[in-house]
Formats: sequence, C-alpha cells, structure tokens
Amino acid sequence: MHMKKPTTTETLGTEDIRWDLSCFYNDISDPQIAADAAAWEKAAVKFEKDFKGKLTTRLGKSIQAYIELDELGNKIMSYLFLKKSLNETDEEVKTKMDALQKVFSRVAGEHLTFFELELAQVPKKYVAAQAKADKTVAFHMPWIKDIQKRKPHLLNETVESALAKRAMFGPSSWDRFYDEEEALLTFPFEGKLLDQSQLLNVLEVAQESSRRAEALKVFNEGLQGNFARLSAETLNMIVGLKQVEDRERKYPHPMAARNMDNKIPDDAVAALHEAIATEGARLAARYYTLKGRILGIHPLLWSDRNAPLPLEKNKKLISYPEAIALVLEAYESFSPTLCRIVASMADQKRIDAPRIPGKASGAFNAPLTLPWHTPHCFTLLNYLGTERDVMTLAHELGHGVHGILAGEAQGALMQQAPIALAETASVFGEMTTFNFLKKRASHEDSPEKLLALMMGKLGDMANTAVRQISFSFFEQEVHASPRRLSVSDFCEIWRRVTEKLYGKDGTVFVYKNHEYLWAYIPHFHTPFYVYGYAFGELLTQSLYAAQDRFGKEEFETLYLDLLRAGSSKGPKELLKPFGLDPTKPDFWKLGLTPIDTLLGEAEALASKL
Ligand SMILES: [Zn+2]
Repeated sequence: MHMKKPTTTETLGTEDIRWDLSCFYNDISDPQIAADAAAWEKAAVKFEKDFKGKLTTRLGKSIQAYIELDELGNKIMSYLFLKKSLNETDEEVKTKMDALQKVFSRVAGEHLTFFELELAQVPKKYVAAQAKADKTVAFHMPWIKDIQKRKPHLLNETVESALAKRAMFGPSSWDRFYDEEEALLTFPFEGKLLDQSQLLNVLEVAQESSRRAEALKVFNEGLQGNFARLSAETLNMIVGLKQVEDRERKYPHPMAARNMDNKIPDDAVAALHEAIATEGARLAARYYTLKGRILGIHPLLWSDRNAPLPLEKNKKLISYPEAIALVLEAYESFSPTLCRIVASMADQKRIDAPRIPGKASGAFNAPLTLPWHTPHCFTLLNYLGTERDVMTLAHELGHGVHGILAGEAQGALMQQAPIALAETASVFGEMTTFNFLKKRASHEDSPEKLLALMMGKLGDMANTAVRQISFSFFEQEVHASPRRLSVSDFCEIWRRVTEKLYGKDGTVFVYKNHEYLWAYIPHFHTPFYVYGYAFGELLTQSLYAAQDRFGKEEFETLYLDLLRAGSSKGPKELLKPFGLDPTKPDFWKLGLTPIDTLLGEAEALASKL
C-alpha cells in the first residue's frame, strides 16, 4: 500500500482496486488484535471447563461456543494472512503472525483437542436425542456425522493432544524452510541470474523454441544436486511419518484419509484416474500434436508444453474495468443472483487487483465467517490484462460467491465445500466467461484470435486434468514404497508417470532435461491433494454440460442449492438432482466430452488457417 506502483498498472485501471480490511482492524498496530487474541484464549479455556465430559447432554451449547471461537480466531489469523499476502516481506506482520500462531496452536492443543475426540465417541442415541430437542444440534448433524465417521481412526486423547501441540515443529515448519530454500534458488540465464518464477515465465512467453529449451535445461540443472537431495529427504520424511501414523490410525491405504476428507468413495477416485490415464491421455496427445503443428515442431520438447502460440501479434490488453464488466455480464447471463453477489464484492472492496512488488504471486480467494455469523470473501489477483487474467478473475469470484452462499446457509463449520466441490463455482464461472470471450472473438471475425483463445483454454484443461493426475500417480508410487527412495528413484518414477500420461519419449514429447522437475512441486507435501483439482474440473464440466437438459431457471435453482450446501453433503448426494453419479466410470467420460468437443473445433479451425 505504501509501495511505488509500476507504470503498467496505471493504464490497466487496477490502482484503486484494493482491499478494504476495516471489517477486521484499523491497522496492524490496532490494540484490538491483542485484545481479541486474549479474549480468544480465555474463551478456549472456558470452553474446556464448560463442556469437557458433558457432550452427551450439552452438545448444542458447545457447538455454538465452538463456532464463536472459530469466528474470533478467523478474524485474527485471516487478517494477518491477508495483510501478509499484500506484502510478503512485512516483518511487523510476520512477527505478529508467528507469535500468535504459537499461542493458537498451544492453546488449541491444550484446551480444544478434546472436543472433536469426545464428539466422535458420543453414542449415537445421545446425539439423536439432542438433535430432537435442540435446533443447533439438528442443523449441524452433517458436521457431527463427519466427525463421528473418523472414530475408528482416532488415537487416545494424550496422543492426539501431543500430536496437535507438536505439529508446528514438524513437517509444517520444515515445509516453510523448504519454501524459503526454494525461494533462494537462482538460475544463470542469458547472462543474468533469474529466480524460479522469472525463469519459468520464459517457458510461457519466449517465442523461440531454443530459448525455452535453454531455460528448461538451466532449471533442471539448478534443481539437481543439493536441492533435489533436500526435496528427496522432505518426501521421505512425509511418506515415513504418514506410513507410521496411517498404521496407528488403521487407514487401509495411503489415500484413504484424504478420500474420506474429500467425501469421495475410493472407487470414484480410482475411476477418475482410470479415465484420465486412458481417454484423458488420448485427448492430451491430440491437443499437443495440434499445438506442435501450429508451432511447426515435431516432436515437441517438454519445454514447448506451455509455449505461446504465434497466432496473435500485438495483443490488446483488457483493462480491469472492462474485465469486471465482462465477468458481471457473463454471470448475469447465467444467474442474476450470482451476479448480484459478485457486484457486492466489488462494491465492498473485497478484490485486490494490481500486481505490486512484494505481493503474493498468483491469485486466491479466501472465504471466512467473521463475528458474528457474517460470511466474507477476499480475492487477491495480480491482474495484468490478458484474457487468462479475465478468466482468473471469473474463477476467483466463483469461489467468492460459493463461499458467501454456503456461509449464509451453513455457517462457519460447514461453509467450506470439500475439495471435489470446492472448484465447482470457480470452474463454472470461468467456463461461462470463456464462452463469452469465445462468442466475442467469433463475432470479431478473427479466426487466429479465436483459435488462440481455444488453445489457451484447452492447455489449461490439460494442465488441470492430465498433469495433476500424473502428479497423483507419482504420489501413489512414492507412498507405496516400502523403503526410502533415493534421488534417482524419484527421477525414475517421475519419468514413468510422465510417459504414462504424455506418451513414450519421442512420440509426442521429448523428455530431455525433465528428470529433476519433481523436486519443485510443493503440493507433494500435502499428500494426495492434487487429484482434487482434476476431480473438480471434470465434475464441473459434466455439470456445465448438464445445463442443456434443464430449463434455465430450473437449472439455476438446482445449481444455487448445490453451492449453498457447503460441506453438508458429499458429491454423490449433491449431483443426484442433476441425474449425475460420480461413482460410475462413464461419469468421467462425460466430463471429458466438452474437452473433446472444443478440441474438435480447434482442429477444424486450425486446418482452415
Ligand atoms: Zn480455484
């Protein structure tokens, strides 16, 4: 906020599109932060005194108090998180955040661990009796059932409490160290030292294949050696800890805990992997072959995968006011209710748009419920005016409307949809906006622009579906290993899963200078998180395609209900009104159909140019 703005943002109209965080605190020095933290700690101590050992009779009151603790804790930590993302190097914010995080995890470990553990053990008949007499209990039954489902996997309270208190010194703090080490990496390229994101950017913007190949070579060499050893050690630690804990908690296989959290049956997860490994891989091969034809390169080098296409010279940038107007129009065309929520997020300054030095990279949306019982959503962007940026805006605002609708309907404990559904509103909003841009490009009678837009979207889809599933196969092999893996073992597995999804070396791609790239994927530190992206993308494509089978208003009603459900229902139950079932293998083929259709259009258009 006190930083100098780069000149480009002035023409983009992003300079005044900044967050208003006054619903939290006046500023980082606001004494209310310390006062709230003290109140939170006091409330946590009181919570244990009031409710420990009493859940068979006082469940409703305990849930209400738990929600208030959650909301107050959210207010403090989310404020610090949002402040930090505006300036990652702000030492005052970082120090405060560190200190409070320590207090929070100590207090939570000591006074709050009992709650979910005890709740998991409350006999069903006591829960049912309280649900009959108490509205809060009745309303939170889906949440209670989710916790009770974990009963067979819980350890005793002493162990759970020790694990909770120890957590901040374990893998999560190592993970922060890994991130810092990764941020320190520099790569010599064309006479300069580049950081990782600058170097990877070359792969997306350089027009010459040889420059991209050199960038990948430098990247791969930079990861090799010490960083790959650090990364291998990290993965071995994560896998080893998980194997021991999974055994103690009696999870039948490495993905079981994640699938349970995601509310996705094991066979649906397996069916997704199977569909992507077969049909998805075939579509990817077709897409990259077309890309190679447009680029005039065969076979493609791995460094050409995200290469820019030589279709559009002198691309015009889209200003932020233009972009938000376009997104509002796209949302309006589909659902006036959603459009109204998006407009209010813009009016209330819940979007932070400009790219500014020190700001967190990429984009995100943070949904939360603040005291008392009001849902909010904050969207961070690094808006530079490309069509990709417009779709990112539509995507993040989709998360925003989802968070607001679910927060209003379900409250703090059931606001966050499980991962499989967390991408529904975002991908949906992005698809609606993409089709808007596509229509606009067809009207402008500019086939190059239209083809560039379609190829961009297809590339994104391939990266979300196929690439994330290749990551997931990598994790599956790594977690199944009965012994420690060496750097060369990881390289070998990486190559095998890449060939499984992208074809044998030399057919579609040449995999030169690719062997150490597993070392920089931070998602591997959150086991089996990645398949959720592919699950969400294909699920939403199926849903998007289902629109045609319903009337406009009928579909909108069903769709808004789905968003309002938050985490109160699983995917199977939520998709039923649409006539869809994610546990059936052909469900995933349906999700791949829109990709097939769009690819067909792109192939036809390319052959005419
Ligand atoms: Zn998203």
